[in-house]
Parts: sequence; structure tokens; C-alpha cells
Amino acid sequence: MTRRKMLVGNWKMYKTIAETRSFAEVLGRNLGKLSAEMDFAVCPPFTALQVAKVVLPTQVAVGAQNMHQSKNGAFTGEVAAPMLQEIGVKYVVLGHSERRQMFAETDEAVRDKVEAAQEAGFIPILCVGENDAERNSGETMTVVARQTQIGLEKARPDGDAIVIAYEPVWAIGTGKTPSPKDAEKVIAAIREVVVVALGETEAAKTRILYGGSVKPANIAEFVAEKDIDGALVGGASLDPESFVAMAEAM
Ligand code: PGA
Repeated sequence: MTRRKMLVGNWKMYKTIAETRSFAEVLGRNLGKLSAEMDFAVCPPFTALQVAKVVLPTQVAVGAQNMHQSKNGAFTGEVAAPMLQEIGVKYVVLGHSERRQMFAETDEAVRDKVEAAQEAGFIPILCVGENDAERNSGETMTVVARQTQIGLEKARPDGDAIVIAYEPVWAIGTGKTPSPKDAEKVIAAIREVVVVALGETEAAKTRILYGGSVKPANIAEFVAEKDIDGALVGGASLDPESFVAMAEAM
């Protein structure tokens, strides 16, 4: 089973509309360096999504960083699927550890968001990962298995309709990473959970990314692992030159 490799930039709360335009300009000058065999996406803040969709080259899809599970309602500060559909986003990052930790998103809320995102025709990028304390107490596998299992409870049995990102919380924005072999071990275990949730054939199609302090210098060693199908990158995805360098190194 060959799965197309993916490079996804998670911009978090960075980049204005003007900065998004500059990023797209640099990318536009480097299009020859983006392989047609791979999938690319960036996930800007909501305020820059529409402009990103317009100015980015078509090879680079646009994703949202979050979405509410209801189609509309009295949810001040939230954004719903129909609003994102209008913009033409392809992906929605769901259950990022910053959402889980700082905005109290539960496994069950993430599960409902996955369902709503798929119903709207988006491909959820479901994030899972253990924190430092969980890692130190040997709970990594238990935590990521639980997050994956619940996250997929209402997902369509279609391996192409979901992407999973394994992001150890202690590796996000810290410059620390697991060894590629350790990341591979966890990701292979996640794939086993996907087998139970979606079936063997669909699990073989599901892309599972690694995320956490990925940069041009280390991306190749992660994606060289059998079960690692690409990367979800925060900090190093903000600079277009570095985005292109990662695309070339994969
Ligand atoms: P980082 O963030 O690449 O800056 O570590 C990754 C993420 O949070 O998706």
C-alpha cells in the first residue's frame, strides 16, 4: 500500500492577511520544488483562510485549525462547517493538544467534531499525543490509543477520509523530538487502533503524520519510517523557504 506523503503547516495564531500573501508569493516562485507525488496544505488562522485559498498555488490546499461540531448556534467566538465550506477548505485540524489543554476539548468533543467535519466533506486531521507526565509514567500507548479510538468512534469507515497526526505534547515547540524509531513505534500502534476502528483495508490507506519540532534538518528521518506518512509542522512552517526546504527533503 503506498500512501501519498503529506506536509501540513499549522500556523497557529500567526500571520495576518498581508503575511499570508507574502508567504504565497514566495511559494509561488518555488512551485517546481513541490513534488506532484505529495500533498501539501497550510492551516492559517480563520481570518486569513479566505485569502489563503485565493492566493496559494493550487498544489497547496488550505485547512482550518479547528471547527465547532454544530452547524450554527449561540457559540460566541466559534466557527462552523458551512462557513468553512464556503471558503473551500480541504482539511480541518481537530483535537490539537493546544485545544485539548488550553480550551478543554475532550475526546468526546473531538469525536463529534470529526463526525461533523466529515459530514461537511472535509478531511479531519485528528491530533493525538501524550504529555510529559504521561510519557514519564509509561502511559504513551494507553493515551494515544484512547484518543484515537474515541476520535474515530463516529468516523466514516474510509481510510482516505481521515488523517491522523501523532504529536507528543512534550515535543511541540520545544526542539525536543522522539527518535524516529520511537515515533514509528507509536504510529504503528496507532495504525493498529485504526484497524479496529475502520478495518484492515481502510487502515492501510490512512495517512498518519508525525508532528513536534519538525524542521528541514530532521524531517527526512521521520518520513523514512514505514508508518510515518508525512509531518504536521508548526514553527518551521511559517517561513516559506523552510516550508519548501521540508518539501524537498521528504
Ligand atoms: P511545532 O508544532 O512544529 O512548532 O513543534 C507542531 C504542532 O503543534 O502542530
